[in-house]
Amino acid sequence: MTEPFSFVCDFCGQPTTITEPNYSSGNIDFSTKKSEHEWCGFSYDAVACPNPKCKKLTFKISFVKYGMYRGEFQPVETIQKWDLLPESSAKPQPNYIPKAIRDDYYEACRIRDLSAKASATLARRCLQGMIHDFWSIEKPTLKKEIDALQSEVDVPTWNAIEAVRKVGNIGAHMEKDVNLIIDVEPREAQLLIGLIETLLKEWYVAKHDREEHFKKLEALAQKIATAKKAGKGKGAKVAPAAKI
Ligand SMILES: [Zn+2]
Repeated sequence: MTEPFSFVCDFCGQPTTITEPNYSSGNIDFSTKKSEHEWCGFSYDAVACPNPKCKKLTFKISFVKYGMYRGEFQPVETIQKWDLLPESSAKPQPNYIPKAIRDDYYEACRIRDLSAKASATLARRCLQGMIHDFWSIEKPTLKKEIDALQSEVDVPTWNAIEAVRKVGNIGAHMEKDVNLIIDVEPREAQLLIGLIETLLKEWYVAKHDREEHFKKLEALAQKIATAKKAGKGKGAKVAPAAKI
């Protein structure tokens, strides 16, 4: 019996609590005892998203080492892990973000563990695309474009960008062509991906939400103005102010 656990669906981004009917897991040990992977096997985890609009299956398998633990022969160490569904931990991005930027972001996430170099290259191109599109800043190098951002963004955003830029090869190659492949570790590529996720949220999503909020306010104001106008035209009684 599995205890309920917190889960954020990578397909729809909905945080939720998973209980037994939406979760299953298991282990299978190999019988190839004479191979180099003696006492190995695999384990799987399957989670069905409870969001009725999503219902997607998250499926992961792990190559594991078996051993004795608390008197039972069971997996004791994970050797390798594969995220089969979804293929990456990319967060779903709304359609109002330009497709080229979303595609570079998804691709950077998908290949992060397979090729950190390629992932970081796509992530840098994605970041540059965001600076061009959102801020209309275009300079000869990504470094110069990022420098120009300092006067546009708030201090916490600038500090985060600077922190990522100072890490190893990411910063060292900002001067060079954005498409140049740089040698980085998966965790460095993830740092760039994390920065992109934060900036997508802070720039595009925040702007969109603000615009939607103002549109709602405007519509409400118009509705009240129209109702008042109609009320006056018909000579309807206006409720005393004290009762409103
Ligand atoms: Zn979902």
